[in-house]
Amino acid sequence: MTTSIQFSEDSDRRARERAVGISEQVSAWADEIETQIRREVAVPGCEICQYLIDHPFGPSHRGSTSCESGSIASGGKESHCTCDVCF
Ligand SMILES: [Zn+2]
Ligand SMILES: [Zn+2]
Repeated sequence: MTTSIQFSEDSDRRARERAVGISEQVSAWADEIETQIRREVAVPGCEICQYLIDHPFGPSHRGSTSCESGSIASGGKESHCTCDVCF
């Protein structure tokens, strides 16, 4: 009996370790995908877009469609709008 409990605890621990390994792997992939997305949405010639490829935190080029400060997505001309809605 003791043997089977021992085994079950051991495989449980291994399963947990594997789960941690997988979630670390997944978050590494997520980071990679995010960098990839930033690279793809970067507007050629825009210095802020180029900067944001390496710096994850910043306002997006187009901003939000519900922006009232003139973001590009809302029909204005303001790239990388830093209003509360966009940022
Ligand atoms: Zn930009
Ligand atoms: Zn805005």
